[in-house]
Amino acid sequence: MISIKTKREIELLRKAGEITGKTHRYLEKFIKPGITTKELDKLAYDFIIKENATPSFLHYDGFPASICTSINDEVVHGIPSNRKLKEGDIISLDIGACYKGYHGDSAWTYPVGKISDEKKALLEYTEKSLYEGLSAIHNGAHIGDIGEKVETYAKKHHLGVVRELVGHGVGSNVHEMPDVPNYGKANTGPLLKEGMVIAVEPMLNLGTEEISILDDGWTIVTDDGKPSAHFEHTVLVTKDGYEILTKR
Ligand code: MG
Ligand code: MG
Repeated sequence: MISIKTKREIELLRKAGEITGKTHRYLEKFIKPGITTKELDKLAYDFIIKENATPSFLHYDGFPASICTSINDEVVHGIPSNRKLKEGDIISLDIGACYKGYHGDSAWTYPVGKISDEKKALLEYTEKSLYEGLSAIHNGAHIGDIGEKVETYAKKHHLGVVRELVGHGVGSNVHEMPDVPNYGKANTGPLLKEGMVIAVEPMLNLGTEEISILDDGWTIVTDDGKPSAHFEHTVLVTKDGYEILTKR
């Protein structure tokens, strides 16, 4: 069952999304060589609390931090640590904020200082693939329409599409029905209706689409060690399209 949000719920989801977007903008300034991912996590925690919200991912399924920090070949779910960012790294921040019981969820991959041309291309294409996917959304579209758009665009640029991890519905739970895969066929899958809220989140790799999980039980990495990028927005399905709730 995919829930249709009430007017009040949509207001709260808008506010949660706004806080999530603001947290990204705030953290972006600190992404420089030398800062540790633990420091970024602390900054995120303090900022979200100051906004009268709570970090959605803290203790979620036992996750030990407020945000996910995934560097280079880490795809998602990297745990903040004393690891310092280095010039030339890329780092994905996945941030969730819960406001009065409703969530926003947004991930973005940032360059650390000057990065290689191939990493630059990976970031540009993955961000564009998110908007490609979003462009399929409107009342009456199918979930498969989104996946087909993302996958077609990624393939055109010879990027690996992570299949084991997918987007999702968002509401009073940060992860709700339906699954929103980054692959698929148009006109298949559940119907999108006005008032649904979903997170679309392509994870694209410079090399193989194959991934593994590290011994920490969380961090997902690419099997060939090549970099991965992750861009995500939470959006409201509208009659003619969509509204981004996690605007930056
Ligand atoms: Mg996320
Ligand atoms: Mg998500």
